Amino acid sequence: MHCNVLSDSYYCTEKSRKNLLMARHETYFVPSTQSNLAIGPTKTSSFTCTIPLNLRRPVIMTDSLNVAVIGAGTSGLLTARELLRQNHRVTVFEKSDRLGGTWVYEPRFEADDVLHLDPNRSIVHSSLYSSLRTNLPRPLMGFSEYSLEDKSYGDPRMFPGHEEVRKLLQDFANEFGITEVIRFNSEVVRVDYTDGQFVVECRTTEVGSAEEVFDAVVICNGHHTEPRVADDVPGIKEWPRKQVHSHTYRVPEPYRDQVVVVIGNGPSAHDISREIATVAKEVHLSSRSSNVNVSRMDGYKNMWQHSTINRVYDDGMVEFQDGHSIEADIFLHCTGYKFHFPFLRINDIVHVDDNCVGPLYKHVFPPQLAPRLAFVGLTYNQGLLLRTFELQSKWVALALSGKISLPSEDKMLADVHKHYREMEKNGIPKRDTHSLGFKFEYVDWLADQVGLRIDDRLKEICRNLFEQWGFHPNDFRDVFQL
Ligand SMILES: Cc1cc2nc3c(=O)[nH]c(=O)nc-3n(C[C@H](O)[C@H](O)[C@H](O)COP(=O)(O)OP(=O)(O)OC[C@H]3O[C@@H](n4cnc5c(N)ncnc54)[C@H](O)[C@@H]3O)c2cc1C
Repeated sequence: MHCNVLSDSYYCTEKSRKNLLMARHETYFVPSTQSNLAIGPTKTSSFTCTIPLNLRRPVIMTDSLNVAVIGAGTSGLLTARELLRQNHRVTVFEKSDRLGGTWVYEPRFEADDVLHLDPNRSIVHSSLYSSLRTNLPRPLMGFSEYSLEDKSYGDPRMFPGHEEVRKLLQDFANEFGITEVIRFNSEVVRVDYTDGQFVVECRTTEVGSAEEVFDAVVICNGHHTEPRVADDVPGIKEWPRKQVHSHTYRVPEPYRDQVVVVIGNGPSAHDISREIATVAKEVHLSSRSSNVNVSRMDGYKNMWQHSTINRVYDDGMVEFQDGHSIEADIFLHCTGYKFHFPFLRINDIVHVDDNCVGPLYKHVFPPQLAPRLAFVGLTYNQGLLLRTFELQSKWVALALSGKISLPSEDKMLADVHKHYREMEKNGIPKRDTHSLGFKFEYVDWLADQVGLRIDDRLKEICRNLFEQWGFHPNDFRDVFQL
């Protein structure tokens, strides 16, 4: 089996150059040809190497691969741009008729009872509510040289409404020629891996189902659509009244004159509770914490903060650990989402267990199929969220081009297990595997892989923001200053 390495005008630092040479030697058993590698601006050169047929990891030493990207949200758009920059042939499959993913506000919502979801229901992708403003300030909303700090679409606020982000993504896609490679109304229903290639089955309204073969697949389908619920609350599964999830929340009107229990402690739980309180009879916000004493929320006559729920009863009563009981009409679960890859038929290689997608090297590559299969956009809880996705997409594109080396399969797997052990040691639950916390180690590491550096100013803005969140959880958007 032969393959060519064609270098182009990509510039590597001395460190990446050494990594590249070492890893090629290690992974591909290149013996004496290393001096032929041309790494540096504008040189072109090639070499031929022999790959043992029994090598399980796919061989990536060509300059242009046929790559499928699943999803045209932020992660998919970034990935497409980086792959195009590396001269790969890119097809972005997007099941809806618009790009932007989460940021495409959809007034429609799923009507199901959240504790008894029909798996065949018609799924609405976006979980945005009408009034949603970003929870990150403009400089953090965007990518290098392309953020909401430099662009304005009419909303002067530092934390703009969701429509600004959609417009930014639309302009980004147009400017980088991504729109042309998106196939809209094309839902990927199956991804299989056979004989060293990926079979992608896609369903469109016009053609029905069709299969295509790709060299590589990057999964960017998002993870804010499949509701995760607090179904471990004693009695909640049998509770006879209404239960919904923030995924279906759009506007407060349906909650008028109702007694609502909101479960959750994240930004959505706080934002939505305050909004509902403008029309509801009562709002009771319950976090998982047991050391919260019941208290009326500042500035509200009809909203209380509670500890976790003890138990619920089929007459509508809800008993909190703080000793209070109320009769409620609705439970609103603001309890996050599940990673969900219904199209993935390679469960022996990567699978989801309690919201841990694994094994994945640095949240991106399943060691067994790296770099041909990759995930972009799984990580969360980071002020530099979108920069992280950008770096992940660069890493994937460069690894697929053979310009950045990955460790051997064994080493990647060992790294994943080390990560799991560290989580266990620190008492971090499995479901938080892809939560980065508010630290910068991971994003710095990624930047280093692709020869970039995160601007210190952005980190400073993050630190500032986290502080403000702590002091002003209700109105940090309005008091925050850069
Ligand atoms: C309520 C809410 C508020 C948020 N606020 C912020 C914020 O303020 N700042 C911030 O940075 N982030 C925020 N986020 C996180 C946000 O999800 C990310 O910013 C980002 O949009 C994620 O992009 P993505 O491309 O990974 O996923 P998505 O935006 O979800 O895009 C995934 C795309 O994949 C498509 N797709 C899915 N399955 C298939 C399939 N089988 N075939 C074809 N296409 C498919 C979908 O249609 C969609 O277009 C928020 C998220 C939510 C839910």
